[in-house]
Amino acid sequence: MKRLVAIALFCCVTLAAVGQAYAQHDDSAASNPIKHVLLIGWDGYGSAYVNWDEVPNLKMMKENGAWTLKTRCVLPSVSAINWASILMGAGSELHGYRTWGSSKPDLPSRVLTDKGKFPDIFSVVHQQRPDALTASAFTWKTIGDLHENPDEAHTTYIHSDEHAHSPEHYQKLVDTTIGYLKENSVLTFVYFSEPDVAGHENGWGSEVYHQKVAEMDGYVGQIIKYLQDNDCLKDTLVIFVSDHGGTGKGHGHETMQDMETPFIIYGAGVKKGEIESVVVNYDTAATIAWALQLTAPDCWRGKPVKSAFEFKE
Ligand SMILES: [Zn+2]
Repeated sequence: MKRLVAIALFCCVTLAAVGQAYAQHDDSAASNPIKHVLLIGWDGYGSAYVNWDEVPNLKMMKENGAWTLKTRCVLPSVSAINWASILMGAGSELHGYRTWGSSKPDLPSRVLTDKGKFPDIFSVVHQQRPDALTASAFTWKTIGDLHENPDEAHTTYIHSDEHAHSPEHYQKLVDTTIGYLKENSVLTFVYFSEPDVAGHENGWGSEVYHQKVAEMDGYVGQIIKYLQDNDCLKDTLVIFVSDHGGTGKGHGHETMQDMETPFIIYGAGVKKGEIESVVVNYDTAATIAWALQLTAPDCWRGKPVKSAFEFKE
């Protein structure tokens, strides 16, 4: 009997050791290759309106990356609140932005940096990597107001007197973004006002809405082509997000068409496939911080989407 116990014990110890060796092997199998992050944001692109065949560049990113159509925005499903959440890693109850076009918090932010703002992903990069270049290019002025320090973040507002931006304006946005990538920006954010503008003027899911979606995909394709042609994807992570969807000619309604948005992660270190874990758009900032091996502020509530990566730490 004693001998049987000894053999059983030996087997258990051996199995445990083998198991641990495999676990250690898994942990060390992939290391984090990410040195740069490109965040691409479209305003008002709801999951309900995603037709992969009309967005060949997003489709390519999805098929070679990790993705979900079940990302939820924070409520209400309107713009400034959700762009704040995407960049600030928390919901409106903490960052305080409460209306669609808030240029400053409507309620006091729970935590302030030394520059008097709720910490965003740009402030986290600047604080922990003072020499790192970050950059942000956008076609809606309010995006610039969300940055902790627009000068330090190197923001470029592509201004237009027209509500809807012309192809020339979007081309300038693309060229500005590629310029930042050429400067080896550690974190680059590019924001497109469409298809939100088309949604408000013609309806979510209208023909014009889908035309704008296809047009925006072409601009994304130019940026991705730059990354591919210059072998940047070996150490660049690309994340695609939107702030909300919509119904009729608006958003902010209590519907899933307003609330669910696509989320795609493509490039360095990404594990292909559909993301099964829960994603809220404030997970974006946390995922960027984690991918760049930065410490997220304690006040953030977002979690990195670790299941979308080949490496563990
Ligand atoms: Zn919006």
